[in-house]
Amino acid sequence: MSKAKASILVVDDEEQIRTIVSRRLQEDGYTCVQAPNGSAALNTVSTQTFDVVLLDIKMPGPSGIEVLPQIIAQSPETCVIMATAIVDTQTAIEAMKLGAYDYITKPFDLDDLGMIIEKALLRKRSSCDHGSDRVREVEEALQESEDKYREVVERASDGIAIVQDLIIKYANPRSSAIIGYSPQELIDTPMPNYIHPNELQKILKKYKRRLAGENPDSIYETKLIHKNGDIIDVEMNAGLIHYEGRPADLVIVRDISERKKTAEALKQSEQNYKTLFESTLDSLVVVNAITKKAMLCNQNFANLCRADSIDQVIGHHVFDFLHPDERDHILTTVIDDILDNCQRKILDFHTRKKDGNEIWISAVGTRIKYHGETAVLISVRDITERKQVDGELKHTVTELERSNADLEQFAYIASHDLQEPLRVAANYIELLQRRYKGKLDDDANDFIGYAVNSIERMFNLIDDLLEYSRVSRYAKPFTTVSSNSLVNQAISNLKASIDDSNATITQDKLPNVTCDESQLIQVFQNLLSNAIKFRRKESPHIHISAERTDSAWQFSIQDNGIGIKSEHLDRIFIMFKRLYKQEEYPGTGVGLAICKKIIERHGGRIWVESEPDKGSTFYFTIPDKGNV
Ligand code: ADP
Repeated sequence: MSKAKASILVVDDEEQIRTIVSRRLQEDGYTCVQAPNGSAALNTVSTQTFDVVLLDIKMPGPSGIEVLPQIIAQSPETCVIMATAIVDTQTAIEAMKLGAYDYITKPFDLDDLGMIIEKALLRKRSSCDHGSDRVREVEEALQESEDKYREVVERASDGIAIVQDLIIKYANPRSSAIIGYSPQELIDTPMPNYIHPNELQKILKKYKRRLAGENPDSIYETKLIHKNGDIIDVEMNAGLIHYEGRPADLVIVRDISERKKTAEALKQSEQNYKTLFESTLDSLVVVNAITKKAMLCNQNFANLCRADSIDQVIGHHVFDFLHPDERDHILTTVIDDILDNCQRKILDFHTRKKDGNEIWISAVGTRIKYHGETAVLISVRDITERKQVDGELKHTVTELERSNADLEQFAYIASHDLQEPLRVAANYIELLQRRYKGKLDDDANDFIGYAVNSIERMFNLIDDLLEYSRVSRYAKPFTTVSSNSLVNQAISNLKASIDDSNATITQDKLPNVTCDESQLIQVFQNLLSNAIKFRRKESPHIHISAERTDSAWQFSIQDNGIGIKSEHLDRIFIMFKRLYKQEEYPGTGVGLAICKKIIERHGGRIWVESEPDKGSTFYFTIPDKGNV
C-alpha cells in the first residue's frame, strides 16, 4: 500500500490541530479528511473508508471513546489511533480494549505521529491478528508505567488524592497521615467531610470552575480537619485529570502547619520587638553601616533629634542634633568600632548640641542585619543630668574623705601631743608624792591620789584615741586566716583577766575569713574583755560562734553578764559613751567605737542584742570571700 493511497481521517475539535496535522500528513503523501467532532466523524466514516482514523478522546458532544465502537463497527479494517491530552492510562487501556489500535499523547510530535501511523499501516497489511497482540503489548507497557507512577505516588512526601464527583477515589499514605484516617477509611467518602467548614465554599467554587474548564489558582492554602479534631493548615494543588474515563481532580496536599506556626511565631516575635522598640524609654535608631543614614528609629530618638516625626529622621544622617564639628566623629567611632572590633559597645561622649550647649550622651551600639544590610542598632541616652549628679556626688565623696582624713589627723596629733604635757604633770605629781611622803595631811594625800587617777585615766583615753585613729592609719592588707586562731590569740592576750575572773570561753568551729588579722584580733579581744568586765557575780561564760548568711559570715559573742537596757543598745557604739561610772566599771568608752570602725572597714556591721541581768550577744559580719 503506497502512501498516496492511504487515507486518514483526522478527528479533533481544535481546528488548529486538525489543520497542522492534516497539512503534515498530506506532505507525507497521505490523503487527509478532517472532522471537527465525533458526530461528524461517524457521518464521514459511513460514506468513506479510511485506513487510519486519528481520534481525539476529549471533544464536546460524543467523546472519542463514545464514537470509537461505532467507527470500528462500520469499518473494522480501519486502524483507530486515539489522541489524548492528558496521560490517563485507564482511558487509554479502555480505548485499546474497545478496539483502538494505539494512542498518542497530546501535544504530540508530528514525527512520532508519522511513525505510529506507519506502524499501523504495516501491521494492517501483515496481519489482522496483530490487533490483540498490540493490545497486550500496550497493556504491559501501560502497566509498567502505572506501577512506576504508583510507586512514586505512594512514596511521595506530599499527600496525593484523586477526587471524582467530590468523592475520594484514591489517597496515598501521606495524605492519610496528614488527616489521620487510613486510605481505606478515606476511599469512597466525600471529600468535603475533611475540609474546614469555613473553607468549604471556597474549595467547592474552585472545584466547579476547574470542571468548567476555567483555571482558578491551582495552588492555594486551606484548612483540613484531622481525625482527632485538630485543624491542619495545608497547601493544596489541584488539577483536572481523566480517571476511569471521566474527569476527576488530582489533589496534592502539603501540610504547612509547622511552616504556619513558625511564620506566626516569627510574626509575633517581630511584633514584640516592634513594641519593645517603640515603648522603650531609650532612643533607638538603626543606622546603615555604609551610608550612616537612619533606616529606622523610635519616637524617642525623633524627639532627641527635635524632629516632628520619625519620617523626618529616616533617610537622614543620624546625630544631626549634635554640633556639626562633633557628630561625624561620634558616629564613626560608634559604628566603625562595632564593625571592626566587636558585636556590642557602650561609649559615653561629652559633646555639644547644635545650639552649642554641652551634652553627655551614652551610646550603645550593636551590630545587626536589617533588611539584608549590615547595620548598627544604636541606643542613645542623654545622660547630661546623670553626669552632673555623678560629678556632684564624686565631689561630695572627695570632700567627705578629706574631712575624715583631717579629723583622723587631728585626733592623732591631738592625742599624740597631749601625751607630752601629761607626762610632765604625772612626773611632778609623782615627785610631790615621793618628796612630801609623810609630811602632808590626809586631805593633801587624797588630792594627790585623785590627781594620779585622773592622769592615769587621761593616759588611757589618749591611748584609746590613738588606737582609734590607727584603724585607718595603720591598716594592713587583708589576708585569709582561720578565725579560731584569731580568737585564740585574743584569749591568750587576755589570759590574766580570764584567770582572775575564772571565765570560761568556748568556741565553735569558726570559718576562715579574709581580713586585717591584727584588727580582727582586736575586735575579738575588745568584745571578750567587755564580756568579762561587765559580768555579774557568777563567773563569766562566753561562747563564740558563726553562721553563714547570704554573702557574709555572722559572728556572735554571747555572755551571761549584766546585760544592757534596750534604750542603750545603739548608743554604746558611739565614742566615749559609757553606761557606768569609772568606780563601778573602769574604761574609756572607746572600745566598741574601735570595733565598729574596724568592722565597717571590712564591709560588715556590728550590733548587740541584750537582756538586762541575763547577758548580751554582740554580733558582727565579715563579708565572705568564698572561704569556709
Ligand atoms: P568601755 O568598755 O571602755 O566602757 P566600750 O566602748 O567597750 O567602752 O563599751 C561601751 C559601753 O557599752 C560600756 O561602758 C558598757 O556600758 C557597755 N557594754 C559593752 N560591752 C558590754 C557587755 N558585754 N555587757 C554589758 N554592757 C556592755
